[in-house]
Amino acid sequence: MKDKSLKAWEKEKKLIPVMIKKYCCGRHRIKKGLCDKCEELTAYALFRLEKCPFKVNKKFCSFCKIHCYKPEMREEIKAVMKYSGPRMLFTHPVFAISHVAQMVKYKRLKNDR
Ligand SMILES: [Zn+2]
Repeated sequence: MKDKSLKAWEKEKKLIPVMIKKYCCGRHRIKKGLCDKCEELTAYALFRLEKCPFKVNKKFCSFCKIHCYKPEMREEIKAVMKYSGPRMLFTHPVFAISHVAQMVKYKRLKNDR
């Protein structure tokens, strides 16, 4: 039997390409597949997720994942989440809410510093 945290991580692994696809379609007007930049971002995000040493212990990975991203990719993924996050409410309601909540929390932590 798999534990819950791993399931959340697996869920995120599936969700990232969906979010990037949404972003690419909406922002870059790519109707089929992804543009080169988004393709690269997807590969990078999945690679980071795979390498995350906390993935088993963590309920949610984005939090730490975002600051282990290299700056350029961090900006990209932030834009993706900002764009796709609220739109995920329709397709993945529960997940999207926790996602947005984490992002807001993260931003607040950053601003407090
Ligand atoms: Zn794109």
